Amino acid sequence: MRRRVLVPLILLATLALLMASTGETPTDVRHLLELVEKLRPLHTRLAPPRPGDWLDVHDEPGQTFREYLDSKPVTAHGKRKVIYIQPLGEFTKSQQAIVDGTAEFLRAYFQLPVMVKESWPESKVPAHARRRHPHWGDEQILTTYVLHKLLRPNLPDDAAAYLALTATDLWPGEGWNFVFGQASIRDHIGVWSIYRKGGPDGGEEAFRPCLLRTIKTASHEVGHMFSMHHCTAYQCNMCGSNSVEESDRRPLLLCPECLAKLLYTTGAEPLERFRQLVSFCKQHGLTVELHLYEQSMEAITGR
Ligand SMILES: [Zn+2]
Ligand SMILES: [Zn+2]
Repeated sequence: MRRRVLVPLILLATLALLMASTGETPTDVRHLLELVEKLRPLHTRLAPPRPGDWLDVHDEPGQTFREYLDSKPVTAHGKRKVIYIQPLGEFTKSQQAIVDGTAEFLRAYFQLPVMVKESWPESKVPAHARRRHPHWGDEQILTTYVLHKLLRPNLPDDAAAYLALTATDLWPGEGWNFVFGQASIRDHIGVWSIYRKGGPDGGEEAFRPCLLRTIKTASHEVGHMFSMHHCTAYQCNMCGSNSVEESDRRPLLLCPECLAKLLYTTGAEPLERFRQLVSFCKQHGLTVELHLYEQSMEAITGR
């Protein structure tokens, strides 16, 4: 008799604890698992790595949607749900359009508010945190200074991610030539440069690849900030990349397992998200990506 009363009480207490820990009822996991199965046939399994590829050099186990749920991921259900972009230094008109396009893409991709902060002059970075590359002569900014001296003290209370974007090259310190970007995931901060993404100042044919590379990196890195690990199962935006060439081979699309993680963490509605991504790709002439997003919508609606 005592047992029968105790068990429901324990269940109720556990349920109350779970609800208190997330603050909101999480998106229906069963619905997401059904969605994964609808989308799975559209996606290509990852082939064995080529020499020098990320998975050739790094031994990573990957992460299924179920493993993600078990990891108690960082979600956007609490107060940290805004993505901030912090422009740093001078931008040409086309480079500024890359910053604006990246903000617009992140808004559609995560279905979260994205704010572009007022630009910081490059003079915020003192001489001891800059250099000219000793052989190539490229001007470079020290990533650790931007992360720990500029971003961390200014992290907004509601920031899920606070990302500095610069057109100047970056290096992370002694022994390195350069770095594309660097993040401190635990601190919700990151810094990326478009310096090595291909110059966008040569008309549409130059602008488009630069935009595609920048939005791929930005969405991949914000994904990490929501506890998404590298994907080892599919061709996916969450695959690790060791070079621009490898990153160019990876799609902008998330595989179904990683998409389920994003929808869980943001609570986004999948069809509305795909609609907005289709509209972004149309506007920016990203035809390959547009086609894949349209196919995803068809797979979900059955039309
Ligand atoms: Zn990564
Ligand atoms: Zn994936």
